[in-house]
Amino acid sequence: MPLFHSKVYGIVQGVGFRPFVARLADEFSIYGSVANKGPFVEIFAAGALKNLEKFYHKLEYNAPERSTILRIDTEELNSEVKFTDFNIIESAKEQGDIFVSPDIAICDKCTAELFDKNNRRYLHPFINCTACGPRLTILEAMPYDRERTSMKEFPMCPECRHEYNTPTTRRYDAQPVCCNDCGPEVYVLGAKDIRGASAITRARKTIIEGGIIAIKGIGGFHLCCDATNNAAIARLRNLKHRPVKPFAIMARNIAAIEQECLVSAKAKALLTGHQKPIVLLPRKDNGFISDLAAPQNPKIGMMLPYTPLHLLLFEYPDGLSMPSTLIMTSGNPAGAPICRNDVEAEKYLTEFTDLILSHNRKIIIRADDTVTDFFNDHIYMVRRSRGFAPLPIMLSNNFKGAVLGIGGELKNTFCIGHNNLFYPSPYIGDMGDLRTVNALKETITRLTALLETTPTVVACDMHPNYNTSAVARELGIDVITVQHHYAHILSCMAENDCHDKVIGFAFDGTGYGLDKTIWGGEILLADFNGFTRLGHIAPFKQAGGDKSSIEGWRIAAAMLYQLYGKEKTIELNKKLSLCSTSELSAIFFMLDNNINTIASTSVGRLFDAVSAILNIKNKSTFEGEASMYLEFAAEKWHKKACSALDDNSNKSMIIASDKIVDKIVEGILHGAASEQLAYEFHLALANEILRTSVLAREKTKINIIALSGGVFQNTLLLELVVNPLKKLGFKVLLHRQIPPNDGGIALGQAVFAMQHINKKE
Ligand code: ZN
Ligand code: ZN
Ligand code: FE
Repeated sequence: MPLFHSKVYGIVQGVGFRPFVARLADEFSIYGSVANKGPFVEIFAAGALKNLEKFYHKLEYNAPERSTILRIDTEELNSEVKFTDFNIIESAKEQGDIFVSPDIAICDKCTAELFDKNNRRYLHPFINCTACGPRLTILEAMPYDRERTSMKEFPMCPECRHEYNTPTTRRYDAQPVCCNDCGPEVYVLGAKDIRGASAITRARKTIIEGGIIAIKGIGGFHLCCDATNNAAIARLRNLKHRPVKPFAIMARNIAAIEQECLVSAKAKALLTGHQKPIVLLPRKDNGFISDLAAPQNPKIGMMLPYTPLHLLLFEYPDGLSMPSTLIMTSGNPAGAPICRNDVEAEKYLTEFTDLILSHNRKIIIRADDTVTDFFNDHIYMVRRSRGFAPLPIMLSNNFKGAVLGIGGELKNTFCIGHNNLFYPSPYIGDMGDLRTVNALKETITRLTALLETTPTVVACDMHPNYNTSAVARELGIDVITVQHHYAHILSCMAENDCHDKVIGFAFDGTGYGLDKTIWGGEILLADFNGFTRLGHIAPFKQAGGDKSSIEGWRIAAAMLYQLYGKEKTIELNKKLSLCSTSELSAIFFMLDNNINTIASTSVGRLFDAVSAILNIKNKSTFEGEASMYLEFAAEKWHKKACSALDDNSNKSMIIASDKIVDKIVEGILHGAASEQLAYEFHLALANEILRTSVLAREKTKINIIALSGGVFQNTLLLELVVNPLKKLGFKVLLHRQIPPNDGGIALGQAVFAMQHINKKE
């Protein structure tokens, strides 16, 4: 009888994992034992090989809902089997890594109870159990028990206490357990006599009448209105000064999502699973959602209700009939973090709303909604936060120590590294706002305490003036700097647990380069110890300082000037209407005199410029808007296969952005459709990636390509690159769980810091 020894890593403590293993052993006649070892769960399993196979398969794929298995290490032992039955062994907690659970969406059983008239938690807005409910966002300290959560203010009634203490109930050891008698309460902010049922009905009524409400959720407040009501959405856009940036939508149920969007099997599993992120889905033509929700956008971000209160907002026995889709966008003033308490909501959200539906369960740690896209039928993360953070990324190194990657200046998240585990934080936000900087500091303090770790080194960006770098220096520990695009590539490598040298393409908007210019189209030869710059986008000049990152026409005008000179650019501008004659003269003046001008290799800016040249978006109201609409235009053009390597003679590692733009202009002069030219732009860039990949392989003998940076959120570009690269024999590393954008660089920084301290010792 073969005997196996396994270590199961992940969220496997305090989630009913050991009884689950014992039940499985019983089912498949396995002898042995299971024990909680702190950092992992240890299993000895002996039995017939066929049964062992089934046992391990179910172990991995049918694990309890709340658990998350990160890795199972299994080896066969040659020793004699002494077991005659299967036991759960109580063992002292060993020193090791701690797993903090993310928040978990309401489970099916609690949903059923919520709407069961005979259940004592009928319509209770805070119903939860061992398998569902808030976790990270209500935690003050570890270990995870009620006294260290924001539920400590709500002493359990005798009935709840009984369930909490009885192993056979669904609420055994569920820290946030409560009921209508002892739990928190919802109310209308500023009218505290409107509470409970009447508060929920008032909120529903406000939405039905076309109003805007704020509603307190798991990780912060949302702004919410009817997603089919043009006037309400237009008003919300006006108030938020957010003309086109897409809003996320919460739908009553999966049928309502399928009414609006094409939902693949994988997307459906993700939408209905226990993490309930926002999923970007292709829209159908016959949906009911207002186009203002995501103007001219072929995709829309959809999610399902994930708290009991969300469910009650859609469904309540008050005779009102709610729309099936609601706008649910983060409740925050521009630039600031999501509001999490009544003081912030009152101060910042009153002007956006007709009513604020709040409650008295405190949010300790903010968590915005997670946003994911799909690529090749795999999850492709855009923003990793609620339900995912702080689940760690695990590396197979023998790292020892504790480090912090402080993250980027935009879309900030930070990352705590502890030995081989790297814990990305929830989404923090853009560091241009002091309130967000403070949120970063506070969340670092909280999360390091929760993970019971003390970083000795912090890694930050090389940019001298970043707020994140200032926060890093304030921590009073060793600071090391990591170049922005190298951090992107490291992050992609780490996520794929890749320890070999790679050829990395880091394409994004902005990063501070080693030569103090703006980088953003980089080909790097990289491993955990360092990198060299193999190539890049042909540099162009950006004139107009900060404005040029949002006003693509400025880049376009500067590019045309550098390509064709003054006379022809003036002539072209008449056709392209990039800007007024005086604006054009100002660009010329800046370029001629080197005022407010900087060299750049940014692919993001190249996209913006082409978007302006094609008259798709002349400028952006949010970072990446012009590029995004260029992608949409290209997707409308019928697909033509990528002609890999049509130019073998070009041996330069410089990606000829100037020639690409020249071709676009030529196309316009020949009267080609902007959709066609948008597509050909993507194709040309993809071909340059293929060409330089092959060239880099010839030079370095490296066969692994890593793709990272915000530009690779563009799934059309990915499509044009990934399969052709594979056909050329490359191994391609992509992001999945960690965003390719700046929300992902903290992981790369943390890994570099970890490598740094392990090298020393
Ligand atoms: Zn539940
Ligand atoms: Zn109770
Ligand atoms: Fe970046």
